[in-house]
Amino acid sequence: MGYLIAGNWKMNGSPALARDLAAALSAKARARAPRAAIALCPPAPLLAAVGAAIQGTSIALGGQDCHFADKGAHTGDVSAVLLKEMGCRYVIVGHSERRADHHETDAVVKKKAEAALRAGLVPIVCVGETDSERETGETAAVIARQVRGSLPDAATGANCVIAYEPVWAIGTGKTATVADIAPVHAQIQTLFGEGGPAGKRAAAGLTILYGGSVKGSNAAAILACPGVGGALVGGASLDAEDFWKIVTACP
Ligand code: PEP
Repeated sequence: MGYLIAGNWKMNGSPALARDLAAALSAKARARAPRAAIALCPPAPLLAAVGAAIQGTSIALGGQDCHFADKGAHTGDVSAVLLKEMGCRYVIVGHSERRADHHETDAVVKKKAEAALRAGLVPIVCVGETDSERETGETAAVIARQVRGSLPDAATGANCVIAYEPVWAIGTGKTATVADIAPVHAQIQTLFGEGGPAGKRAAAGLTILYGGSVKGSNAAAILACPGVGGALVGGASLDAEDFWKIVTACP
């Protein structure tokens, strides 16, 4: 896969914002074909509005989470199957906010990513260390545990995306440096190829995104880091101009 810029709107937006933001980005994508693949991940109730606004463009739709079951008695949850039927190509799983707010473990994240693959979606599996884990020098151990525990055996470089999102850089304005990012991306690439109980994975073409306060002003430097294949963007994805600066910063 080439570069991917995915916008995670989190629990923000409204029908009006969904329509206006997605329409503004669609107009930009129509005017000049972007080099990067683009995905918009709005809150589930806004998927239809965003889907309608991006129709006929190269912009893809994504969910922010899915349940690990395909259907059933899980009030408030959304299945990967339904996301696929709503026109999604991607679904984010294991975002640090879900790991924290909903106590999602690596095992749960892995089951969600498996559900995404079953449904024909590309899971964007998030991993990343907290500030205190970083301070105590545990980054590599945390990344190893999360990648080994959260990735399906059936994941390949062609059907799965990983996002490295240091928790200390999410929504804080703190951006990681090349020295922070490059070694972790290299570690993820190696770990992914090692695979799990089912053996090695086909890691060729794996896209590893960076996420954490990416914005128009720092995107070029981040996207030029070795091993970085795109960005998962939170705050800046709610501003069409800033988000587009990130898209056009892809080398
Ligand atoms: C995110 O939500 O995945 C994220 C990286 O947020 P922000 O860009 O706001 O730090």
